[in-house]
Amino acid sequence: MHGSLSKEALTAGESIFPNAARMLEQALAEARAGLAESGIPIGAAIYNSSGGLIASGRNRRVQNGDPSLHAETDAFRNAGRQRTYHDLILVTTLAPCWYCSGLVRQFGFRIVIVGESRNFQGGVDWLRSFGVSVIDLDSGECASLLADYIREYPEIWNEDIGAE
Ligand SMILES: [Zn+2]
Repeated sequence: MHGSLSKEALTAGESIFPNAARMLEQALAEARAGLAESGIPIGAAIYNSSGGLIASGRNRRVQNGDPSLHAETDAFRNAGRQRTYHDLILVTTLAPCWYCSGLVRQFGFRIVIVGESRNFQGGVDWLRSFGVSVIDLDSGECASLLADYIREYPEIWNEDIGAE
């Protein structure tokens, strides 16, 4: 029953919704940890379809001097090798950028939970156009955490999203 659940994944967006806020908490904890390290406060987590945590991560551009360590890619790497991503859930405090949306598409995640898309819309519409179920929780906490950071460090934020 697992394996290919294209139809199920779409409706799964509904059934996992009660757990979505709890899943977002883990990503938020990562974002706060990043801020405490003077990093960009964006966190992510990967869950299995039963709601079990596989891995989490955070943006560590500043901490590690590594521009490829977005929250999503950090969580993705921390999850190690997975046989398939079709039934895994990617949770992130911010709508995924093009780079991370590409990761979602490349590895076949079908459900993405985003904390907010007010600060940055990223590839949300693009992912949805491929049938990825993107659930936007529009969390005020996620939005203000990052908005405060952007206000204080606009140049680091622009660097992170490749804007000049
Ligand atoms: Zn990204």
